Amino acid sequence: MFEMNGRLALITGSNRGIGRAILLALAKQGANVYVHCRKDAPSARETAECARAMGVDAECVFGDLSDANAAEQIGEQMRSTMGMPDILVLNASYQIRNSWDRIGTEDFDLQMRIDFFSSIQLIQVCAPHMLEQKWGRIVVIGSVQQAKPHPEMIVYAGAKQAQMSMVENLSLQFAGSGVTVNNVAPGTIYTDRNTQVLQDPAYLKKCENDIPMGYIGNPEDCAAPVVMLCSEESRYITGINLYVDGGKHI
Ligand code: NAP
Repeated sequence: MFEMNGRLALITGSNRGIGRAILLALAKQGANVYVHCRKDAPSARETAECARAMGVDAECVFGDLSDANAAEQIGEQMRSTMGMPDILVLNASYQIRNSWDRIGTEDFDLQMRIDFFSSIQLIQVCAPHMLEQKWGRIVVIGSVQQAKPHPEMIVYAGAKQAQMSMVENLSLQFAGSGVTVNNVAPGTIYTDRNTQVLQDPAYLKKCENDIPMGYIGNPEDCAAPVVMLCSEESRYITGINLYVDGGKHI
């Protein structure tokens, strides 16, 4: 089950964190992979090396998703290396903490552009190949904030909700074409973005108390559900939202 030999996957934001865990899990199942990040070439190359050590092909692509031309430029980098992907995992995201009365245009534009609009643009670049070959998997990484928004992340949570609406919309439009579109929504997971705040013992305790299972997850906890949704065996699953959060959304 879940064998992916010969498939090609692009995972955005895969030089570290949850994206890296997803990329390595797909590579372990035999998928060739594109590592993507903004500009940190050493960490992208190191991740690609880890994937190659599993016997698959791996290339790095770069692009700042706040730039309106990034999706097209990533597409050009893929066309000139291993070709267009069969699997697209939209994982990269940017998060700004701000109280409701301090949110400005720049906060809004940056988060909506990176966390929502770039997803539409990357689908515009990648989905035509999937639709043409009548096989494709698109997995969007959402957040438990779709259900439990953090008071200081109104725009980020809104962008994740917007992505979920896009998932439902496109899953209907692509239904019957062999291309599925699903959402995986992590809860609190140990990655670079929250290392600093989780060092405060009081905040850590509060976070753990908010999770019914009582502990914070690891990036690998998010990788297995994505592998499942990208597999041949998940051909009949589309338009879903799958929380990976120890029950926090309840
Ligand atoms: P992370 O450690 O903060 O890494 C973010 C990734 O996104 C990096 O690879 C980063 O690339 C990339 N990225 C950020 N801004 C970018 C931009 N402008 N252009 C291109 N790439 C950009 O993130 P994470 O914690 O692993 O989160 C991964 C996904 O899970 C995100 O969608 C996040 O919203 C979601 N999530 C995470 C948690 C959690 O607790 N960690 C909880 C719920 C949902 P660079 O290295 O180049 O900056």
